[in-house]
Amino acid sequence: AAKDGGRGRFHFYAQDLHAEAEARAQMEEELRDAITKGDLQLFYQPIVSTATEEITGFEALMRWHHPVKGWVPPDRFIGIAEDTGIIAQLGEWALRTACNDLADMPASVRVAVNVSPLQFSNPQLPAIVTHAIAQSGIQPDQLELEITESVFLSDDAGTDAMFKALKRVGVRLALDDFGTGYSSLGYLKTAPFDKIKIDQSFVRGATQEGSRNGAIIASITSLAHALGMETTAEGVETMDELDLVRLHGCSHVQGFIYDRPLDAATAKSRLASGLMAVARGPRASRAPR
Ligand code: C2E
Ligand code: MG
Ligand code: MG
Ligand code: MG
Repeated sequence: AAKDGGRGRFHFYAQDLHAEAEARAQMEEELRDAITKGDLQLFYQPIVSTATEEITGFEALMRWHHPVKGWVPPDRFIGIAEDTGIIAQLGEWALRTACNDLADMPASVRVAVNVSPLQFSNPQLPAIVTHAIAQSGIQPDQLELEITESVFLSDDAGTDAMFKALKRVGVRLALDDFGTGYSSLGYLKTAPFDKIKIDQSFVRGATQEGSRNGAIIASITSLAHALGMETTAEGVETMDELDLVRLHGCSHVQGFIYDRPLDAATAKSRLASGLMAVARGPRASRAPR
């Protein structure tokens, strides 16, 4: 009986795997269509200087408007796009779209685009980036590529050469989700990052008594500062969190306290409205929202 049970379980397991493979293949097909049908959209979340409370740039975040399921968040499709390889097309579309949207904004503004590990391992990436910049007319240093620590999992000479090639193109590089992945500090010796993005898991709970997150944030910002890199605290939602990341020396803040990701038109009008001062005590009535 035990044997039968085992076989039965195996049978169900195999069915699950089959169903999952089919679901993935279907999603790959749908994502391919999404690009051509215009069902993908980039939203832009402001990145704000802690010193001036001005918007210095935006992070471009992908959204998929599925014909049946409605809005699908990136956590539900980026992983599959990476596994199936379709991320190459999605990523190229995102680079082109972000550069074109930025071309309508003041030249002091930057846009940050997420680059997946598969894109990063593609020797064509510098040419793709160069082309996106050239056809939009923006300056190379207005574009920042966000890369996660996982690119360091595969050795090697290729990673190093890619960093050098991207710096030759003239774009800025940011280390995304710092502290959540394969966090060896070794690569900070040589990888030419302009910015470290402190993952929101360090911000969340940082204001609670006894939390070690504040000490970790302070250490990351002082390390970054010593290496000549900026820091963005991700996922700042409350006034207390904003005060804390400022106190610990983050040069930039990104989070719902200022804005959620906005469509391109709204992002442009945010720039026109100037300072991002948020409600704080007696100033609350003057807050922009
Ligand atoms: P990420 O690059 O770390 O992006 C930041 C995420 O934090 C975004 O989630 C953003 O909406 C969210 N966020 C920002 N402020 C707050 C806050 O105050 N509170 C909370 N709870 N969340 C906040 P989103 O847009 O769902 O994207 C999730 C992830 O999907 C991104 O994480 C990134 O890894 C990936 N992704 C998004 N767009 C792209 C893309 O175009 N290409 C690639 N390769 N990955 C992308
Ligand atoms: Mg990012
Ligand atoms: Mg991040
Ligand atoms: Mg993230």
